[in-house]
Amino acid sequence: MNKSSLTFDVIIIGGGLAGLSSAIHLSKSNLSVLVIEKNSYPKHKVCGEYISNEVLPYLNFLDIDVFSFGAKKINKFQLSTRQSKLISKTLPLGGFGISRFCLDHALASKSLEVGAEILQDSVEDIQFKNDEFSIITKSKRQFKAKIVIGAYGKRSNLDIKLNRQFIKRKSPYLAVKTHVEGTFPDDVVALHNFKGGYCGVSKVENDNINLCYITNYNAFKNYKDIKEFQQQVLCKNTFLKDIFNTTNSVFEAPLTISQISFDAKKPIENHILMCGDTAALIHPLCGNGMSMAIRSAQIASVLIISFFYSESFDREALEKQYLREWNTAFKSRLKTGHIIANIFSKPKLSEVLMRCLQWFPAILPLIIKRTHGKVMTIK
Ligand SMILES: Cc1cc2nc3c(=O)[nH]c(=O)nc-3n(C[C@H](O)[C@H](O)[C@H](O)COP(=O)(O)OP(=O)(O)OC[C@H]3O[C@@H](n4cnc5c(N)ncnc54)[C@H](O)[C@@H]3O)c2cc1C
Repeated sequence: MNKSSLTFDVIIIGGGLAGLSSAIHLSKSNLSVLVIEKNSYPKHKVCGEYISNEVLPYLNFLDIDVFSFGAKKINKFQLSTRQSKLISKTLPLGGFGISRFCLDHALASKSLEVGAEILQDSVEDIQFKNDEFSIITKSKRQFKAKIVIGAYGKRSNLDIKLNRQFIKRKSPYLAVKTHVEGTFPDDVVALHNFKGGYCGVSKVENDNINLCYITNYNAFKNYKDIKEFQQQVLCKNTFLKDIFNTTNSVFEAPLTISQISFDAKKPIENHILMCGDTAALIHPLCGNGMSMAIRSAQIASVLIISFFYSESFDREALEKQYLREWNTAFKSRLKTGHIIANIFSKPKLSEVLMRCLQWFPAILPLIIKRTHGKVMTIK
């Protein structure tokens, strides 16, 4: 990177699904793009790794063929209660299983191929002055850009810098993820409930099974470690017991994250267009966060291209339109996700819901539809 390359059309903070999808889209339109990502690729991430088919046309537009990497087609859904009662349904739209290790790496490689630059560094400060952004990184490098996309995920040091409200509240949620080897159908995504949480199970590209569960600190705190928690709590569900007892871990140790917040956030802060989890995180129970991240990248990218190529589309118009389209795409599913998450956080209510689902399983696809979007169109 030479001196003249310190100024870009667009700087993207965070190279996850949202950031990298935007990087490819914008670079394809000949804009100069810098992605600043604090980690290197490839890297495992805590995630259920089931993605709704709604993003397939857009991934194809970005030249990413997930099935060429071995993604598993998934069209069946299983839900089990804490008492191990099973409800099975066909998924309304279906999806696929691919690891973040593989998908993020593929998107990063494609970003470089189409001309974006990726810098491994952490952004520490963002200033907006005289209609231009100035970005400072941990290694004290400074970059300038007309547009900045915030795609730095669920929570970051930057949320404190930007004085965002959600970061001031503690969240009780934590999540654990591992890959195991064993037998599990390719075409099923299962959500098995246990006291204090649920565990998602589905296959990814290399025949590994992804196990990813979310729970809260209160459920977890009385156990010595993850292993004991799994044996004493998760394995009370016979489906999980079967999986844990008949598979071998591929990871040396499971990955964990904590402080997962589902509080409302703003999709624009200090003129930064927020994408993916940085704008809002839907409860993982809905299995839709990755699609939302990718879709928000498309919404932002299309508008940013208009900003650069159409004189009448200024910053104010860009921000107004982004907010409008973001709300249309996500407000209602976030609301449903919030209600579902609330029900699942209350054991008695969640029992009632599970009973209703057992008696009227046809409700399940309706709930899934309400938390998912329609198949994306290419704009
Ligand atoms: C337990 C759990 C299970 C889930 N399961 C599913 C599922 O099955 N299906 C689904 O669709 N969704 C699921 N989700 C949601 C999904 O993981 C997220 O919605 C998705 O990862 C969002 O992508 P993103 O690009 O917004 O953020 P991320 O993928 O988190 O990317 C953000 C990037 O920003 C980088 N970064 C952060 N701060 C900085 C900084 N200051 N400077 C530079 N880089 C920075 C990070 O290193 C990271 O790579 C799950 C979430 C959780 C918590």
